[in-house]
Amino acid sequence: METRFFHGNITSKQVAQALLAEFNRGALRAQQVGDQDHIVIQITTQPNLQSGGHTAIGVEIKQFDDGVAIHIGQQAWLGIAASIGKTAIFAIKNPLSLLNRLDDLAQDIENLQLVERIWNTITQVIKENQASLELSERFRRVVCPYCTTANPIGEANCIACGAPLGKSQPNTCPRCGFVVENDETKCPNCGLILSTVN
Ligand SMILES: [Zn+2]
Ligand SMILES: [Zn+2]
Repeated sequence: METRFFHGNITSKQVAQALLAEFNRGALRAQQVGDQDHIVIQITTQPNLQSGGHTAIGVEIKQFDDGVAIHIGQQAWLGIAASIGKTAIFAIKNPLSLLNRLDDLAQDIENLQLVERIWNTITQVIKENQASLELSERFRRVVCPYCTTANPIGEANCIACGAPLGKSQPNTCPRCGFVVENDETKCPNCGLILSTVN
């Protein structure tokens, strides 16, 4: 369905913990597949699950250099208790194999509301850790395309050779956090029309 990129001191573990705390209770069930840098949290509205075969919302959380990438989509709930067989164990060892099964099925209203709640929970933990959709400070360096000197962000001209740096300033999409080139008019990730700075 949608992928967003959050920049800053945020780990996939922190996001996973927040989601489990919020959604593994009441009329909802949540479970974690994988750990460390690549985690999938599955959330379903069916509290009495005995086996697989149900649809769940899968929240894929991946660590990258400057934060986490989060993708929300629909996928089959893994009935871990009932079938601790090949699928579950293989998926835990290699979450990527599970992601290949990601399937954007027909979306119903109930799921859309749940997806909204999931993004809200994620946004909250992102804020608590001072991460955001914008590039974090440590990535805010502009490399001069002419002489390759590293410049502080926001410099109009290269501090070494004086070349204009406007087009090289790194930027992120305000809706999804994807890193975009400055001359791009449309976010390659979410399709948002970007107003060009130059
Ligand atoms: Zn330069
Ligand atoms: Zn975007």
